[in-house]
Amino acid sequence: MSKQFDLVVIGAGPGGYIAAIRAAQLGMKVACVDAWTNGAGGPAPGGTCTNVGCIPSKALLQSSENYEQAGHHFAEHGIGLSNLTMDVAKMLGRKDTVVKQNNDGILYLFKKNKVSFFHGRASFAGRDAAGVQVSVGAPAGETLVAAQVIVATGSNARALPGVPFDEKQILSNEGALAIPAVPKKLGVIGAGVIGLEMGSVWRRLGSQVTVLEALPAFLGAVDEQIAKEAHKIFTKQGLGISLGVKIESVKADKKGVTVSYLDAKGEAQTLAVDKLIVSIGRVPNTDGLNAEAIGLKLDERGFVAVDDDCRTNVPGVWAVGDVVRGPMLAHKAEEEGVAVAERIAGQHGHVNFNTVPWVIYTSPEIAWVGQTEQQLKAAGRAYKAGTFPFMANGRARALGDTTGMVKFLADAATDEILGVHIIGPYASELIAESVVAMEFKAAAEDIARICHAHPSLSEATKEAALAVDKRTLNF
Ligand SMILES: Cc1cc2nc3c(=O)[nH]c(=O)nc-3n(C[C@H](O)[C@H](O)[C@H](O)COP(=O)(O)OP(=O)(O)OC[C@H]3O[C@@H](n4cnc5c(N)ncnc54)[C@H](O)[C@@H]3O)c2cc1C
Repeated sequence: MSKQFDLVVIGAGPGGYIAAIRAAQLGMKVACVDAWTNGAGGPAPGGTCTNVGCIPSKALLQSSENYEQAGHHFAEHGIGLSNLTMDVAKMLGRKDTVVKQNNDGILYLFKKNKVSFFHGRASFAGRDAAGVQVSVGAPAGETLVAAQVIVATGSNARALPGVPFDEKQILSNEGALAIPAVPKKLGVIGAGVIGLEMGSVWRRLGSQVTVLEALPAFLGAVDEQIAKEAHKIFTKQGLGISLGVKIESVKADKKGVTVSYLDAKGEAQTLAVDKLIVSIGRVPNTDGLNAEAIGLKLDERGFVAVDDDCRTNVPGVWAVGDVVRGPMLAHKAEEEGVAVAERIAGQHGHVNFNTVPWVIYTSPEIAWVGQTEQQLKAAGRAYKAGTFPFMANGRARALGDTTGMVKFLADAATDEILGVHIIGPYASELIAESVVAMEFKAAAEDIARICHAHPSLSEATKEAALAVDKRTLNF
């Protein structure tokens, strides 16, 4: 016996579970299927983000930040600690508790919104006049039918060719979030967001961390001035960063992992580490989906092919999040999920890719929205730039965290904000103001004229907006 729904969502990561809830709010009868299983064999909705991504990484970043503060910065406040200890098992246990709270929160939200949740792996079984048939494997073991289906199956870590993850020595994000004891030496291949965040966690806990990056530029997608500042700060913190390398081989044995590579000058080098995190990007996940059963088209890189509105080539079938083109970010997946649910309901869902914020949760954090200076130059757009350092911000001084700056880029003629780039304390929170401003097509002067609380880090945003017009008040 099959069960009929208006909408079946495959995947309960941020793209899928948010789409399911929004569709239910709009009056649809919704099912959401997710395969993720926790250690006890039960469901663990929330996808990569909740289980092995955004949430656990931020839990460990917070723990390691607390440890670093206690070890290196409490003394400045006159707080002495004679016996600072670290219990990695407890730290990992806390992280697992935070993950579980989020899993349970999603199950509660499904109940609250009357979304039917099915735990198991979904695959397409066919399509006829009644709708698209979706088979759900064990433990649910059901067939679901709906006129509308959203594929939100996410992504998996990309392995180096011929070097599979064993999650003991060669680690993806999953293993990197569960290392049972601080490794003496840790290697990271890939200086992207995930590599830097994971490297930061273990460096702060005492690992000697070396990051190897194939590209010649550090954080190439970030505004160059901010990326340079980040490189300087991370190097000073003790993170070893080698750019422009070519990995030749990776060998693991009882003693550890040896990476042979050519450095930027083409000279042969080896790196011997206890553990190696490989963070060289992620691949779309359509494993076991049986896309062929309904003729669902994938692009040449394996992503589900979609148009600007997330429609696939199969009528009634949509796809959102990491499994489609665009930035692999949880909030991008959520926005697409909401927009698709609204489109199915006949509304005009919309995602503005120009105002999707990016954050790297290192210390200091890096956050930005809009275009970088190098992008504006390449596009030949006339712009004005203004920066303000946290060193000149009273709240940052009181916090004891004066690294970094806020940078505004505005159109030379109209003053419209084109990009905002922050490196510094709480950049992830500060960027929200600039996202709102850009969404409303504000000018730099609008931010400069708005009253900001004193003393607050947000005053650095106002001052950077003033700097566009060369009239900072505190610098
Ligand atoms: C270490 C790390 C840190 C990150 N930190 C951040 C961050 O701070 N901020 C941010 O915005 N992004 C972050 N990301 C990226 C973010 O996790 C992803 O962009 C986001 O999870 C994508 O959401 P999604 O819904 O598309 O897919 P996913 O979250 O991957 O969820 C897909 C779900 O579908 C399920 N599934 C797959 N196939 C099937 C099937 N056939 N049947 C049933 N279920 C299936 C999976 O089990 C999974 O639960 C991070 C990623 C990693 C790895």
